Amino acid sequence: MPQPHHTDARRLVPRTDAVLARPAVAQAISRLGRDVVRSAVQLAQEQARAGRIAPEDVEETALSALPQRATSLTPVLNATGVVVHTNLGRAPLSAAAVEAMTAAAGTVDVELDLATGQRSTRGRGAVAALLGRLPEAGGALVVNNGAAALVLATTALAAGREVVVSRGEMVEIGDGFRLPDLIASAGARLREVGTTNRTTLADYESALGPDTGCILKVHPSNFRVEGFTSTVGVAELATLGHPVVHDIGSGLLRPHRLVPDEPDAAQALADGAAVVTCSGDKLLGGPQAGLVLGTADTVARLRRHPLARAVRADKTTLAALEATVRGPRAPVWDALEADPDTLRARCAAIVAELPDGLATVVPSDGVVGGGGAPGQLLPGWAVALAEPYAVGLRQLDRPVLARVEKGRCLVDLRCIPVEADPLVAQAIRDAG
Ligand SMILES: *Cc1c(COP(=O)(O)O)cnc(C)c1O
Repeated sequence: MPQPHHTDARRLVPRTDAVLARPAVAQAISRLGRDVVRSAVQLAQEQARAGRIAPEDVEETALSALPQRATSLTPVLNATGVVVHTNLGRAPLSAAAVEAMTAAAGTVDVELDLATGQRSTRGRGAVAALLGRLPEAGGALVVNNGAAALVLATTALAAGREVVVSRGEMVEIGDGFRLPDLIASAGARLREVGTTNRTTLADYESALGPDTGCILKVHPSNFRVEGFTSTVGVAELATLGHPVVHDIGSGLLRPHRLVPDEPDAAQALADGAAVVTCSGDKLLGGPQAGLVLGTADTVARLRRHPLARAVRADKTTLAALEATVRGPRAPVWDALEADPDTLRARCAAIVAELPDGLATVVPSDGVVGGGGAPGQLLPGWAVALAEPYAVGLRQLDRPVLARVEKGRCLVDLRCIPVEADPLVAQAIRDAG
């Protein structure tokens, strides 16, 4: 039997429509949508009817139960020291790229020439920006991701024919996806040559013939073969009379001293590759995208292939990519080039704000990550805490992803913008 005070409470519980019309609730509806807010209001009404909250608290209870954003994707601080972290969305975008992306989210002239009113080439701004940075390329095309760029290139050049590739480059790019399967899925046949550790020019030569569509060179970006090895470079492969596709992986346009073992697009093209493919969200520091860079006629051929339509990039990607290529240095490069002494001083400043003995400053090596420059360490520093902090920090409203190493929780500031240091210090206090 309901208690008398429940009956009273029930009569006093405000009606759903009345709560939904209140200014703060209406504002939440404009942010999150009506369904989510109505469910929260109805839940709060039930609590009020059951006497668990006061009827006048329905609005506040409903509001405090609402999710913070319209998406379940939660912004996190990357304190792992892994610069291109695939599970954390790879490259964080520059402010310029975010602004470009936000503007493009509305209605934009992505495929329209405003001067003539006629249809124009999709992605022309991003393409122009890429060709400006990379005059070695006669053409460029932007697709959905690196894997799509590779599949488009091999399919357009070799569907129904053979893609000649070294056994040392038959890589798995992560999450169980293997390049050979990807290429075969779109209709080209793989012709493997050489062995895992050694492949020579003669191995390629003996496999070439009328069935050859292209020669593929893949940068084995996420592992290193050491010892008795030999591979054949693009310059030599390009002499064999078939188009060479080079998947360089991480999207370095030109060589960089920090990642000397990463191949770059400029060199690959200068060496005679017909097509270079790579990701937009690794060392290029942009949005998820795949770049196809190459000779004008080969890129034109790929652009006309039916598969190009299935892997095309969206307007926000094109905007962010153009802003990344044209704009200020991307955040991944701030992280890669972070000065160790500065990192050490930032760590010390955070430790000084925490209770004595809670944290120390320790050396910490960052890595490039994202399947790039394996084995190459980036010397730096971290705030070391007791291991259980890793879980506490991850479960905050604004999660901090730390690294657990040798029984300690390491908060590596390399990938954290310096403005966010106070948030990190607060997070450590909150997680304690
Ligand atoms: C990362 C990578 C890919 C896949 O690129 P996505 O952008 O993740 O699709 C393909 N090949 C190589 C060599 C890579 O490093």
